[in-house]
Amino acid sequence: MKQLQQAILERGSVLSDDVLKVDQFLNHQIDTNLMINIGKEFVSRFQDSKITKVLTIESSGIAPSFMAASELDVPLVFARKKKSLTVTDNIYSSGVYSYTKQEMNNITVSKDYLSSGDNVLIIDDFLAQGNAALGLVDVVKQAGASVAGVGIVIEKSFQEGREKLEEKGYRVESLARIQSLKGSEVTFLEELVT
Ligand code: 5GP
Repeated sequence: MKQLQQAILERGSVLSDDVLKVDQFLNHQIDTNLMINIGKEFVSRFQDSKITKVLTIESSGIAPSFMAASELDVPLVFARKKKSLTVTDNIYSSGVYSYTKQEMNNITVSKDYLSSGDNVLIIDDFLAQGNAALGLVDVVKQAGASVAGVGIVIEKSFQEGREKLEEKGYRVESLARIQSLKGSEVTFLEELVT
């Protein structure tokens, strides 16, 4: 997605050979026009999938997921990272190792919001080692629901997340695929598409 690739090049910063900072438009300040177009792009890629719900993790997954769910006219559910006082039992939960915080989070989703009839599109901001996406897949499976696919805003293709998801048979659609961050330079797997 050209607009996203340009935002990464012009407004992102490479923190190390493995980590890209995109606080300027996705992880802190949000570029709403870009999010609207990201939502549309996800929908065009999954339009034949009969999705009934979009599932993400708080907090950075919410903005792109909201736009996709709104375009699809389905509810958006976000998994919580910290246990809520108002949701005690009646939850699906899965342990997810956080790539950026380097700690374990127990993600939870109330059983009220996912059920066996759902066909779920999982969306997240980044795909690195695949732990967040696999945790969300685990929650969908606990509900007896099906995974329509995984939509990622920024995939770091040099890490193994995509491979792990595809090995398990899940379709992965990433709007920007980064081949390398070496030397503080962003290289995409695919050329800028006009
Ligand atoms: P994974 O679980 O696939 O290893 O990592 C994905 C999660 O870690 C995403 O939800 C995202 O919040 C965070 N993450 C992984 N790599 C990066 C990165 O390079 N930059 C930012 N900003 N977040 C990342």
